[in-house]
Amino acid sequence: MEYQISAILLSQEELAARVREIGETIGRDYAGKELVVVGILKGAVIFLSDLVRAVPADVNITLDFMAVSSYGDSTKTSGIVRIVKDLDGSIKDKDVLLVEDIVDTGLTLSYLVKMMRERQPKSVRVCALLDKEERRKVHVDVDYRGFPIPDEFVVGYGLDYGGRWRHLPAIYTIEQK
Ligand code: 5GP
Repeated sequence: MEYQISAILLSQEELAARVREIGETIGRDYAGKELVVVGILKGAVIFLSDLVRAVPADVNITLDFMAVSSYGDSTKTSGIVRIVKDLDGSIKDKDVLLVEDIVDTGLTLSYLVKMMRERQPKSVRVCALLDKEERRKVHVDVDYRGFPIPDEFVVGYGLDYGGRWRHLPAIYTIEQK
């Protein structure tokens, strides 16, 4: 099946304004502290790179990344989370912020949060740009959330379909050609 970009869901301006707000909130919550920001590859990289630049300098941020397998080339979740790349550093006794592009069923994040907790960090919080609330299968506490969105497959601003469209500066829905 071939897909094409359909409608714009969130514009560059809307994304930038919300990301700035979240960055400022994180700045207040972690002022004067050290924070390990963990990006979930690859979908979260664009969001994360804008987000961390919106956090004031008095938060001592370090970055780490984790890659998990998710949907492959299809738009249906498998429910299976496989660690493709683990963190480079230890998070023991550290404040950790997991940054994800989108929460759908919640399976990926709930698994990752559980796995992080087993490593005995001081705290773990979750930041997700998009939230498809009505699709949730397992509960996940999303501490910082960008936008609730309807149950539609979206691409752009880091999110892909079959590896494509991550570089688009806004968020779009897709449709069959
Ligand atoms: P969950 O485990 O919450 O069901 O799925 C989370 C992952 O599914 C996200 O990190 C993302 O990779 C993928 N995903 C869920 N919904 C969408 C969507 O609308 N667009 C894209 N590109 N990926 C999605």
